[in-house]
Amino acid sequence: MSQFCEVALPVPLRTTFTYAAREELAAASGMRVVVPFRNRAMVGVVVASSQKDERRDQVREISEVLDSEPALQPPLIELGLWVASYYLAPVGEVFRAMLPPVVEVRAVRELSLTAAGAEYLAELQSLEERTDEERAEVAVLKAFPADGAATSAARLRRLGGGDGAIGRLLRRGALEARVVARRRTRATVEFEPDAPAEWAPDAPRHALNPEQKRALDAVRADLAAGEFRVNLLHGVTGSGKTEVYLGAIEAALAAGRTALVLVPEIALTMALSRLLEARLGHAAGVTVLHSALPEGERSAAWWAVRRGEARVVVGTRSAVFAPLERLGLVVVDEEQEASYKQEETPKYHGRDAALVRAKLEGAVVVLGSATPSLESYQNARRGKYRLLELPMRVAERPLARVELVDLREDFRQTHSTRALSERLRMAIAERLAAGTQALILINRRGYSWFQLCRSCGAAVECRDCSIALTFHKQRGRLVCHYCGFSRPVPPACPKCGQRYMYFVGEGAEQVEEQLRAEFPRARIGRLDRDKVRTQQEYRKILGAFAAGELDLLVGTQMLAKGHDFHRVTLVGVVSADLALGLPDFRAAERTFQLLTQVAGRAGRGELHGDVLIQTHYPEHYAIQSGARQDYQAFFEKEAQFRRAMHYPPFAALANLIVRDRKLENAARWARQLAAILAPEEGHGLKVLGPAAAPLARLRGEHRMQFLIKSPRRTLLTQALTRAIDACTQNGIADGAVLVDVDPIGLM
Ligand code: ADP
Ligand code: ZN
Repeated sequence: MSQFCEVALPVPLRTTFTYAAREELAAASGMRVVVPFRNRAMVGVVVASSQKDERRDQVREISEVLDSEPALQPPLIELGLWVASYYLAPVGEVFRAMLPPVVEVRAVRELSLTAAGAEYLAELQSLEERTDEERAEVAVLKAFPADGAATSAARLRRLGGGDGAIGRLLRRGALEARVVARRRTRATVEFEPDAPAEWAPDAPRHALNPEQKRALDAVRADLAAGEFRVNLLHGVTGSGKTEVYLGAIEAALAAGRTALVLVPEIALTMALSRLLEARLGHAAGVTVLHSALPEGERSAAWWAVRRGEARVVVGTRSAVFAPLERLGLVVVDEEQEASYKQEETPKYHGRDAALVRAKLEGAVVVLGSATPSLESYQNARRGKYRLLELPMRVAERPLARVELVDLREDFRQTHSTRALSERLRMAIAERLAAGTQALILINRRGYSWFQLCRSCGAAVECRDCSIALTFHKQRGRLVCHYCGFSRPVPPACPKCGQRYMYFVGEGAEQVEEQLRAEFPRARIGRLDRDKVRTQQEYRKILGAFAAGELDLLVGTQMLAKGHDFHRVTLVGVVSADLALGLPDFRAAERTFQLLTQVAGRAGRGELHGDVLIQTHYPEHYAIQSGARQDYQAFFEKEAQFRRAMHYPPFAALANLIVRDRKLENAARWARQLAAILAPEEGHGLKVLGPAAAPLARLRGEHRMQFLIKSPRRTLLTQALTRAIDACTQNGIADGAVLVDVDPIGLM
């Protein structure tokens, strides 16, 4: 008697697949299995057992079960199925994202001899004379065992001329190839928790101030109740939110439960895990999980969590799937961050998946932020979340003073085209004289935004994307920030051939250069993805700044997050406006968040801090309320706009992109999809499009866009599910329609 299993396989299809499992395999839900799929072996996970046997003959068998215990426990299977249906993501790809890297097995290409192959061998052997190629083919064909067993391609390739011979024999049908899974004999990497950091005594336990205490007491009460509950911890920058997280984690562990802490960036996992380790001790097994860990390490850490050796996990987005049991607490720090949304399939939001997981496991959630997303704050207002506020900085430190510098005014007075206004330069000079530090934020990578032709007005564009290339001076090339394509700087316009080219706009590279020219004696560092490519480099430069070996640090938004430097008395924002010009309903929110965050980097120690924000639109509400660090004022204005325009949090939104390398395919499928969606309209659903996407070409593909809105979430999910099913039935290519539910960007 075999049992039947539904297996999720890492293929871009929205279904699971039925396999038979021999009884002795003892396959169960949550276990990883090796199965034949098309002509290869694949590792998938059993998500359910099923009874259906009407197609029994066609059902193939599971070849191997990799786990003796389920890798995924029932709540995680349920979470995976939720992600697949809510985001309309291929279920197997969701589970692949949830599971550790498969280090136990490796894929091996095997070849077997066909009947035609045996005939061909006889034919070759009967020849009087053979060419070199034929001789190599004979050698390969004769290398097969007489019992008809398959043999590894790697072994045959080592025969003289074997590589070419295999190719020819496959083409003439003399051989058949398939990929099978072989168990690795080598032991997997053992998990070794980081040794306690030397500077871990640097983590003092602060006596909580009354607001911190009130917030922590509330979370503790939730933990004691042991039920799902969401708290939104809205605390201004420097209000000591971390201390509340730490107390909550201690309480969860004391109650015999585990804790999951999500942070928006890999770089932040290290510092926080050290802090936790210092506070909770080695026994808590604080473990870091993120996608940049080497596979072996990631797998070892994942299994340590699964075996219960780690009770606290700190990680980025994907750590939401960490196999913790008895989950008691989930902390999502900087819950508003866009990096919680995965941009590739499955396009899930780490925070929202964390909320669903907490609900499934009866855990308490703390969402922390100085600038909560509109979504979360609206939920707090409606009473769905409990709002906990830390309105003051710790130790009665004042918030930094923010001043707007009107760049129009500066230009009228100085006629200077430099990136730094007179006011900002003076302020930097003062800090240098006083021996304190300054951070300069310029939210653009590279040297110049783009290269423009004076004669025809065209910018030099990417070969594969409809986007202007950014000039990187150090590399001496124009670079596409979307696909990575780069080219030399053309001496003449590629469109009209005229030689009147000039560069427009300043990026981080250029601002650094201008600062060096202006302040030759200052010690200046730069922090952006071009300068800092590894964790090590990142830590080195931040370490140098923290140790006072640098006076100025210039960089992109990498600078804005999380750092706690006590000698920074000035933060300069070179241009506050960059995001405002983008075709994105979140542009104002992003601008406000960035300004508040960056202002939060000044005056965090004993020294008072100033913030100078350069802008062309000092009257814009995002900039006005950002300058005053007035979240309430921003929320009121922004909520009005979102409500009027039917944008989140007042409507559920999905972005659909239809794409293909051929424009006519993209256009035809977009028309078909429009017809599919048409009957849905009016029933609580609004469909905008098709229109050319803001990024009309990306990586060589043409892109058409639909925006779909509904005041009711369930209507949106149902309509999308129907539409995507209809796409398949209408012959629209698999993968031609990209669905992004709750999109963060609309490009
Ligand atoms: P936030 O995340 O809210 O911006 P942090 O948690 O980084 O703020 O705390 C800011 C600083 O205040 C840290 O250096 C932290 O050690 C310190 N701190 C936290 N709580 C207290 C307290 N109750 N008294 C004094 N200092 C505190
Ligand atoms: Zn490109």
